[in-house]
Amino acid sequence: MFAQLRLLNASGLEFTALAEERGEVAFGSRELVVVIDPIDGSLNAKRAGGPCALSVAVATGWTLDDVVFGFVYDLHSREEWVAVKGQGATLNGKPLDPTVAARFRETGHLEVFGVESADPRYLAGAAEALKVATYRVRALGAIAVTLCQVAAGRYDAMVSLKKCRSIDAAAALLVVTEAGGLVCFPGFDKPLGAPIDLVGHAPVTAGRCEASLAVALAVANRPAS
Ligand SMILES: [Mg+2]
Repeated sequence: MFAQLRLLNASGLEFTALAEERGEVAFGSRELVVVIDPIDGSLNAKRAGGPCALSVAVATGWTLDDVVFGFVYDLHSREEWVAVKGQGATLNGKPLDPTVAARFRETGHLEVFGVESADPRYLAGAAEALKVATYRVRALGAIAVTLCQVAAGRYDAMVSLKKCRSIDAAAALLVVTEAGGLVCFPGFDKPLGAPIDLVGHAPVTAGRCEASLAVALAVANRPAS
């Protein structure tokens, strides 16, 4: 990644890179930010047993609202998710359908709900909220890939049970919104008002529609246990 960024910089493009392991690296300008998460789902990668993804986002400012390009490549499934702000999102080059609806069971539960940061202690604390929320839980162990499942309508909503860093989600959040879904980092004046940095700010939530996002937010904002 950095070899490519150095080449881009040598050809005259100026930007700042922010990468999980390297932190902030100056390439001349702070007006364009390249956000890199080299591996999302690192435990899956180490175990060679599940989704793990490279995420790259490009932003024209330092909040998640400023992201204009998102790229998530799942090295396990070899699925490539790409979003350009205002131009939609694709999976392996095919447009994602922005009209895919959330599925609710007759009981009012979401049908499939992605849960990240699935530490059993957090799961235990969220058990009551999850019982109200969903028929089935899925825990892939990779936040960006789980967000992309919402983008494709494979999952109806998702939540992380602990605070998520914007770097983990920056690219995938644009994939969700450009695919017609809704996202929110609670606690900021706007759903994507969180700063682009390496700090965990809030649980990340996403849904296919207002109603399924509301279910995810209810789990994110569950009473402390
Ligand atoms: Mg990472």
